[in-house]
Amino acid sequence: MAANFANLEPDIRMINESDADYLHLDVMDGVFVPNISFGFPVMKDVAKICRKPLDVHLMIVEPQNWIPQVRDLGAEIMNFHQEACVHIHRTVQAIHDAGMKAGVTLCPATPVSTLVDIIGDLDLVLLMSVNPGFGGQPFIRHTLEKTRELRELIDKTGSHAVIEIDGGVNGETGAELAEAGADMLVAGSYVFRHADPKAAIAGLRAL
Ligand code: ZN
Repeated sequence: MAANFANLEPDIRMINESDADYLHLDVMDGVFVPNISFGFPVMKDVAKICRKPLDVHLMIVEPQNWIPQVRDLGAEIMNFHQEACVHIHRTVQAIHDAGMKAGVTLCPATPVSTLVDIIGDLDLVLLMSVNPGFGGQPFIRHTLEKTRELRELIDKTGSHAVIEIDGGVNGETGAELAEAGADMLVAGSYVFRHADPKAAIAGLRAL
């Protein structure tokens, strides 16, 4: 979301050469969130030149309808919103059947407790630390408490889910999140507006 949409290739090549573990793609539909980003034709071309695994974050209504298209991109992770999907269990199964890892995303006001009955089936939980829809927003500090609560739930239940955080991540908030139990950090503006994006990625990777 923070890359140069007029010329994505140099940014993707930078990510290829960096310590990043994934390329995170924020898909917005203008219905679930008040913004539209990009869709499958763009992601198809991105996937052709990206050498990192793709982490596709769907901020869209009815995410269950798009599983084959996400699979056809060769994505490793499909993230969809708890708030956008009535049948989460069925959708998680369908994502697994398509050969991908399944992640459920929570908006800032959605409690961790809503995942108690599905946590054992999830590969990933993505906590939004800003309201989804726009890049460059300040970090919501309550996310730290939520991260600790989710860590406790995962450890207590023996779930193998990893904790991913998206929004307002930088060197300082990243360190606090890692301390609170986060496994994966999504960084947009912090990396792409940094004088040395590869160094910014390496710094986050080392937390
Ligand atoms: Zn995202």
